[in-house]
Amino acid sequence: MAIDQTMSGGAGTEMTVLRMVIGGESVDAADGQTFEVVNPATGASIATAPQGGKVDVDKAVAAAQAAFEAPKGWSSWAAGKRGRTLAKLAALVKDHTEELAQLESRNTGKPITSARGEIVGVSLVFDYYAGAANKVFGQTIPVSKPGLDLTLREPIGVVGLIVPWNFPLLMASWKLGPALAAGNTCILKPASYSPMTALRLGELALEAGFPPGVVNVVTGPGGSAGAAIAAHPGIGKVAFTGETTTGQEIMRLASNNVKKISLELGGKSPNVVYADADLERFAAESPYSVFDNCGQDCCARSRILVERSAHDQVVELFAAATRKVVVGDPADDKTEVGTLVSSKQRDRVRDYIEIGLGEGANLVVGGEAPDDPALAGGAYLLPTVFDGVNNDMRIAKEEIFGPVVSIIPFDSEAEAIRLANATPYGLSGSVWSRDIGKALRTAKGIQAGVLSVNSNSSVHTEAPFGGYKMSGIGRELGMSAIELYTETKNIFIDLR
Ligand code: NAD
Repeated sequence: MAIDQTMSGGAGTEMTVLRMVIGGESVDAADGQTFEVVNPATGASIATAPQGGKVDVDKAVAAAQAAFEAPKGWSSWAAGKRGRTLAKLAALVKDHTEELAQLESRNTGKPITSARGEIVGVSLVFDYYAGAANKVFGQTIPVSKPGLDLTLREPIGVVGLIVPWNFPLLMASWKLGPALAAGNTCILKPASYSPMTALRLGELALEAGFPPGVVNVVTGPGGSAGAAIAAHPGIGKVAFTGETTTGQEIMRLASNNVKKISLELGGKSPNVVYADADLERFAAESPYSVFDNCGQDCCARSRILVERSAHDQVVELFAAATRKVVVGDPADDKTEVGTLVSSKQRDRVRDYIEIGLGEGANLVVGGEAPDDPALAGGAYLLPTVFDGVNNDMRIAKEEIFGPVVSIIPFDSEAEAIRLANATPYGLSGSVWSRDIGKALRTAKGIQAGVLSVNSNSSVHTEAPFGGYKMSGIGRELGMSAIELYTETKNIFIDLR
């Protein structure tokens, strides 16, 4: 098993020794190096993981190539059989919901109830792509020459999947599901903060019946293991979720062998609320659109753009709803917001709060750690609301990736759209109005890939997800994701 043994971590804690999954084997890094995995709610080390690098990536690529190319290898399996194997993995994930949720919560500081929801989401994503595997169709095309023209959708080969720490297993499933359904073999690299569930999934994939080498999991720093995946000539495609600057570096590295790339990057998403909206509902639901996962969500609605005539009422309602959000121990079922992923990330967010104050924004709620002494050892920060913000301030422009929202007034529909678009990002956003025409005009005017009206819902397993502008390239989820993991081959048959 990838999670190999337990040993004393001192002070009565238990340390797990993690191993990578390469070619169906549980392995250490080639040079034996490891790194510590920390529980951000306590600051305690909970595991060690292999610090993989280029040599380990080379091994994983060789295993994935062999699994892809073998005479009866993965790419030759009937699509329906690939789908049935994915369905088994979906069932195994569901059966292990509690175990995986506990690992995810302890590893990232997210509330256990959120972690359970995410693991159920992982199972649903695998189920969806289990059904998709034998629905990847080509076309017949009426070309002008006499004959038959048809297209085939073929797997790319070995694909590299690099994922972040905010939704570790869920982001992995968005990539693994379509990549495997389409017949590729995979090298998954989780973020260093959050390797636990990915390694466990590598094992569950073997149990589900994926042949050795089809699903490999390599852990290690982005700058070495991640970069080795992005640059590797034996990898045909890299799919990445993470920061925009890392995405830019991956594009550079991937240009090595002109890899296919898909990128899901940062965001600074607007939540546009008109005075004629159901303001009570907006205020009750919207704290979770920015403070959920402690604000570490690429879709976080971190800018509330409010029509000036409703400004004071919205600030009052939103602040009251924010004060009700339950911040606490991630292991407690009642907790709605746990910790940030690390004390380093918490310090970074605190710096932004200082920047906001220095820029003259008005702190309405939060801005500090909870005063409960039981939470003193963790990377906690209260949901924070700034009013009196203008769109030129750094807190309104930069992705904070923490529980901080900026409220910005506007005077007209045109100004709402202009402010919404005054960002290099374009991932998601919401529009609230009872005037459906105005709401739709605004949604159409916003340059972002994932919009919602009178709702903050961004993610639907069956629908495309991805960003405009510097928020990314390509669309994950739904059948769109299959395009990210297939090549199209055109064949003309002369019928004369
Ligand atoms: P990150 O960019 O620091 O790391 C993401 C992954 O890339 C990790 O596995 C990391 O080890 C690896 N990596 C780092 N440097 C690398 C390099 N030079 N070459 C190859 N790989 C490298 O991002 P993060 O801090 O883990 O995640 C937070 C970011 O992710 C935020 O910006 C957030 O908006 C974004 N995100 C976007 C989406 C989306 O769908 N658009 C979803 C979730 C998170």
